[in-house]
Amino acid sequence: MTLLEACQYGEKQLEAAGVPEAKLNAWLLLEHVSGCTRSHYYAYPKEMLSEEVQKNYLEVLKLRGRRIPLQYITGVQEFMGHSFLVNDQVLIPRQDTELLVEEGLKYLRPGMHFLDLCTGSGCILLSLLLGCPEAIGIGSDISLEALKTAEQNRERMDTKTVLVESDLFDKIEGIFDLIISNPPYIPSQEILGLMDEVRNYEPVCALDGHEDGLYFYRRIAKESPSYLKAGGRLYLEIGYDQGAGVSQLLKEQGFCDVEVKKDLAGLDRVVKGTYPGYCGIGMEE
Ligand code: GLN
Repeated sequence: MTLLEACQYGEKQLEAAGVPEAKLNAWLLLEHVSGCTRSHYYAYPKEMLSEEVQKNYLEVLKLRGRRIPLQYITGVQEFMGHSFLVNDQVLIPRQDTELLVEEGLKYLRPGMHFLDLCTGSGCILLSLLLGCPEAIGIGSDISLEALKTAEQNRERMDTKTVLVESDLFDKIEGIFDLIISNPPYIPSQEILGLMDEVRNYEPVCALDGHEDGLYFYRRIAKESPSYLKAGGRLYLEIGYDQGAGVSQLLKEQGFCDVEVKKDLAGLDRVVKGTYPGYCGIGMEE
C-alpha cells in the first residue's frame, strides 16, 4: 500500500468505527509508525510502505478503531510545548489545563515552594518547573502507577522534584506559597455520558469527583490552609459549571480575593484564592 492509500484506507476504517476526526487520526497514526513527515507525504504520496510499517499501521488502526485514545497508542501528548509520556494510568493532559499553568507561572518566583496535588503525568508540576526553574515544586498522587509515569517525565525533562504517594495531603509535609491542582471533578453519574475514549480508557479515579463533582474541592479547600503560608495561593482547575460552587468553598474556608478565570472557549476553568493567614481564619471577604 502507498502512503496515500494508507491514509485513505485508515480514514475509512476509523470513520466506520465512529472515531472523531478520522482523517487526522489516520495521518497521525501513519506518522507514528512510519516517521514520515507531512512534506515527505505530499512530495511522495505513491511511496510504498515497507511490510513492517504496513503491519504496524494496520495494528494501530485496529486499536484506535476500538476507541483507545490516540495518545495512549502513540504514548505522548504535547502540553505547554513539552512532550509528555502518557499511558492508561494517567489522564491525558488537556489543552484547557494550560490556563492553570499559565496562572501559576504568573505568580511563581524563584525560591517559592509549590505543591501539585493529583499530579498524574506530572504535566502541571513539570511545566511549572520548566517555566520557573528556580521554584521548588513537589507533586503528589494517590496512584503509584501515575507517579511512575510522572517520574519518567521528570527524568525526560531533566527537572528536580519530589513525588509523593499520598491521598491529597495525607503524606504531605511542609508549607507552600502555592498549592495547585486539577483534581477529578466529573460528577459520578456523568461519567457514563462521556466519549468512549474517556469513559472506557482514561483512569476513572482521575475523572470521578463523586456525587456532585465537588468532593475533592471540599477536601482541598478545607485542608490547604494548614499547608499555605500567610498570603499563599490556591489555584484549582474546575469544570465549566463549578465556578460558583468552588468559589463558595474557598470563601467558607477564609480565602480572599477569590477569582474565576475563563479559558479560551470563554468557559469558567480556574478558581484562584489567597489565604490571608492566621488572622484571616473564618473571616468572610
Ligand atoms: N494533574 C493531572 C492533569 O491535569 C491529572 C489530573 C487528574 O488526574 N485529575 O493532567
